[in-house]
Amino acid sequence: MASDSASGPPQDLQAALERSQQEAHALRTELEETNRGVLALYAELDAQADQLRQATELKSRFLAYMSHEFRTPINSIRSITRLLLDRVDGPLTEEQEKQVSFIQQNASEFAEMVDDLLDLAKVEAGRVEISPAWFEMVDLFSALRGMFKPVLTNPAVNLVFEEPQDVPRLYTDDRKLSQILRNFISNALKFTPRGEVRVSAKFESDERVTFSVADSGIGIAPEFHRTIFEDFSQVQSPLQKRLRGTGLGLSLSRKLAELLGGSVGLTSEPGKGSVFHVTIPVRLQDAPVE
Ligand code: ADP
Repeated sequence: MASDSASGPPQDLQAALERSQQEAHALRTELEETNRGVLALYAELDAQADQLRQATELKSRFLAYMSHEFRTPINSIRSITRLLLDRVDGPLTEEQEKQVSFIQQNASEFAEMVDDLLDLAKVEAGRVEISPAWFEMVDLFSALRGMFKPVLTNPAVNLVFEEPQDVPRLYTDDRKLSQILRNFISNALKFTPRGEVRVSAKFESDERVTFSVADSGIGIAPEFHRTIFEDFSQVQSPLQKRLRGTGLGLSLSRKLAELLGGSVGLTSEPGKGSVFHVTIPVRLQDAPVE
């Protein structure tokens, strides 16, 4: 009589084989289903990314149009207030002068916000041109000093520009760098009731340079340090609320620093002051030989 082994696998082995084949089949079916699910998820993610891109583009375009359209009426308000304050159309009473000055001041703040929005929209749409050139740090500092002289109205605060030590000539976009530093300095002056705002530059070992704006002002609580460089981010404290702007300046500064190949940062302690810094490469890529 033929044994089991001669005619094929024994019954229980055969059953085990069939079972494992069925299991393998079930597993394959399950895997195929999962695969189909993953593919569908990918397609959905792609569609969402596309929608997000479109939404960002639409937002940037809307911001750009809106800010552009706002400029003409704001400028005409500013010109009319200037004419009124120059008494071109006759004298003003003391009260009228106060009110017109108030309109002028608000129109200027509005114009600043519109400029920030327009810049931000341009950066987001990738439409900001970088125009690098060789320049000396001292020249940038003295231009900034000149710009801030007329707005230094608080005698209790000193604005100090440290003489840059061993900082080589830079090859970058000086107007973008100046815009970042202007944002840091005007914030520092706004939030420093008394003491000092100190601007300095330090050459780092890896061909980078760090600019710092240190103030002895009200400082910023640690929970805001991470979000402060994001769009529309503002700190919730009485003074910071009273002097609120758009919350766009620091976000714009961060994006400009990234365009220059660098980054921004902050150290701050409430009640002691803040140091905002930007670190950028001394030379943007492809710098020509001096
Ligand atoms: P804003 O137009 O509101 O000034 P920013 O993006 O420039 O927008 O700043 C965001 C917020 O960060 C400010 O509203 C303020 O609350 C806080 N901030 C910025 N710089 C300082 C500083 N040097 N000291 C204290 N708070 C600051």
